[in-house]
Order: sequence, then structure tokens, then C-alpha cells
Amino acid sequence: MKQSTERGLVVIVSGPSASGKGTVVDRTMEKAGEERVNLRLSVSMTTRGIGRNEVDGESYYFVSRETFEKNIAENNLLEYNSYAGEYYGTPKSMIEEWLDDGCSVILEIDVNGAKQVLRQYPQAVTVYILPPSFRELECRLRNRNRDSEEKIRYRLAKGKDEIPEARWYDYILVNDIIEESADDLLSIIKAELNNRARIEYKIDEVLETYGEDSQNN
Ligand code: 5GP
Repeated sequence: MKQSTERGLVVIVSGPSASGKGTVVDRTMEKAGEERVNLRLSVSMTTRGIGRNEVDGESYYFVSRETFEKNIAENNLLEYNSYAGEYYGTPKSMIEEWLDDGCSVILEIDVNGAKQVLRQYPQAVTVYILPPSFRELECRLRNRNRDSEEKIRYRLAKGKDEIPEARWYDYILVNDIIEESADDLLSIIKAELNNRARIEYKIDEVLETYGEDSQNN
């Protein structure tokens, strides 16, 4: 009997700016490749300027406001939000295709975007990445040398407003050591792929094989 293809899992990863979630997610993607876990990373679209170590089409699709607003109007975005006066959003195009192919998809988006995605994918798994402390968060923001003093203050204040929202996420990772956080994130994904509610249908599939003639297999 042919087993049905399982749809992939939607994994939402949020965390304050400079919590290190991007690095954790990148490392998780590498580990997933090594362990043959089918995992894709959604690349968001943004109107903010490109940073020094960022690559267009990898970190984000960097677009003009006009292009972003055209994508909103054409309903091409799964969700979008504005942050520090710039738009950020998740392009819809590949996500359904990946899920149908059985690939799980990581969306690295903010709390507001997470709420929008949960309305469309209520089974999505949510993971919040916390920095060990605000002192550490500030250090990381300064070390990456991307923002003005004003933007750093803004990002820290945004973090303070946003962190309480971690209470409604399914999982929380305190990102002290990247390697450990990435291991934990991949473990969460692997465990969730075997969540009973998700693969309960397999029970019937196996039961249907009872009494099948082993010679025919
Ligand atoms: P940054 O400028 O530091 O790369 O991102 C700023 C904030 O935007 C972060 O909280 C990040 O998670 C969020 N963000 C990045 N991409 C998206 C997206 O596609 N949708 C939403 N809603 N937020 C995003």
C-alpha cells in the first residue's frame, strides 16, 4: 500500500533584533542538511537597506517601497509588517509548494507576522529566541555595527515590548551558545515531525496492512 506524503511543518522563529536568531537558523539549516531533514528557509522581502554582510536574495529580497506595495496589492505576501519604518514580509510563492512536497519551512518573522501566519497555519510550531540578557543584546547590536545610536535604542525598546509575547510561543530558546541553540531547534523540529496529532493517520495506514499477503510485497 502506498503511504500518503506527509505535508511539511511550518516553523515560526521569532526573537528580538540581534538575539542571534538568524545565525541560529542558518546553523540549523546546515545541520538539517547533514541529517537529511527536509527543511527550507523562507527568504523575506524588505524595504530596509542592505547591511554589510548581507546578500540580496539570501538574507532578504531587498526591494523598493513601490515594489513592496505592489506585492501587497497583488496578494503575494503570506504576512507583512512594518518595523522601524520599513516593510518586512513573507513571499507566498514557494511555501505551499514546499509544504506539499513534504518539506518543512522556517519563517524567521516577528511576533506580529507570527500571529498572521498562525491564522492561516494553526498547526505551525512557534519558537522564540531570547537573548541571555539586555546587556548581551546591546553588545550584539553594537558589535554588528549596522545601526545608528538612535536605531540601537529603538531596537532595544522594541525588544523590551516584544519579549513578553514569548509567553504564547510553544518553545523558548535562550540563545547563549549558537551551536546548542541550533541543536535544540533541530531537535524541536524533529520531535514535532513525529507529533502524534500530526501523524495519527499513520495508525490507520498501518492497521490497513493487517493480514496483507507478505508474498505480494
Ligand atoms: P532586521 O532588520 O533586524 O533584519 O529585522 C527586523 C525585524 O523584522 C526582526 O524582528 C525580524 O524578525 C523581522 N522580520 C524579518 N523578516 C520578516 C518578515 O518577513 N515578516 C515579519 N513580519 N517580520 C520580519
